[in-house]
Amino acid sequence: MNDVLRITPRDVVAAEESDRFDRFKLIGWWDQARLSRARVLVVGAGALGNEIIKNLALLGIGQLFIADMDRVENSNLSRSVLFRESDNGAFKATAAARGAKAIYPDIKVQHFNGNVVHDLGLGVFRWADVVIGGLDNREARLSINRSCWKVNRPWIDGAIESIDGSARVFVPDGPCYECTMSQQDWKLLQMRRSCNLLSRPEMETGGKTPTTPTVSSIIAGVQCQEAVKLLHGMPTLAGGAFVFNGVTADSYVSKFQRKDDCYSHDILEEIVTLDEGVDTITPRELLSRAQAMLGATAELELARDVLEKLICPACRGEERIFASLGKVSGDKVWCPRCDKVRREVVTFHKIRGAEDFLDRPLAEIGVPAFDVVIARSAAGEHAGRSIGFELAGDAANVLGELLSSDEALELV
Ligand SMILES: [Zn+2]
Ligand SMILES: [Zn+2]
Repeated sequence: MNDVLRITPRDVVAAEESDRFDRFKLIGWWDQARLSRARVLVVGAGALGNEIIKNLALLGIGQLFIADMDRVENSNLSRSVLFRESDNGAFKATAAARGAKAIYPDIKVQHFNGNVVHDLGLGVFRWADVVIGGLDNREARLSINRSCWKVNRPWIDGAIESIDGSARVFVPDGPCYECTMSQQDWKLLQMRRSCNLLSRPEMETGGKTPTTPTVSSIIAGVQCQEAVKLLHGMPTLAGGAFVFNGVTADSYVSKFQRKDDCYSHDILEEIVTLDEGVDTITPRELLSRAQAMLGATAELELARDVLEKLICPACRGEERIFASLGKVSGDKVWCPRCDKVRREVVTFHKIRGAEDFLDRPLAEIGVPAFDVVIARSAAGEHAGRSIGFELAGDAANVLGELLSSDEALELV
């Protein structure tokens, strides 16, 4: 048999792959196989997110998870390379996933059309080697930061405004996003929260920020370049920022200070992977596993405050909600039976064993699919220990074609 006849379809694919990424291989340290194994979570598929996803697809990143709750509007089309007019009304994450596949057909991609703060399980953060943010508000950044720290994952934040921008790299256990927050940042965050406890979703969509496709491509370019270096185990901006002034075309790099009393520095010591998902396990079952490992004082801790119920002080009427507090609309606070009476808001984020909802599946008390529920022990020989229980029974559903048995790249 001559050599030509021995070429299999797999060889042809391999040849095409090598052609596609030929120029990268001229860079001495470049490892295309590493990028093709890499798992990246992109939160936000707006102006920055589009540029980030475009770059990752061009670079040959193998596995991509895209999360965004919004839909494409006409005003997005001037800043979003992956969207077309025909995408108007479609979910941004869906349209961006389609765009990524069009650029690099071999990319495995999953999209999540939901709220990254309230609906995205911590298991997705743990799945990722690196998280890249295309976000536009403090609350989402703080939530992503805390999620990344819990499961020990680096994240790369980007921020743009008019023609200026910055890219920041946060790697556990160095300085994090929360360490960089000023008094003023906290004030703005708290002010919005206390104004109306139930209106946080409005804050997430926030005001409209002026941006351009030119600055989003500059900042997303730096974010993705840092991601490539991180994935190769090279030194990065970790604990620092690249700051770009579009007016003067000046840029500089700054370093952050780590704050020892920062609440985000909470890396879970151990994560146990469970076969169950949010529909198939109850708080009672989970609590008993936690107590078997951490002793009788173990309690469960959810990542978000859950709105348990609303009670009317006038008619004593009670309504059970069980949804992440920030997701519930502000109108809900008014009693539907009484005239202009605000109802009392009852929330929880810990489960100690005396609650009357212990036998409901976790999904019914507001825990998102593929989440990691934390167990902590307050006293006894395990005092201060924390264990995460990953609800991996949901992984196939949430990860779709990204589900695989490959080991994560070890970066941190
Ligand atoms: Zn910190
Ligand atoms: Zn009432």
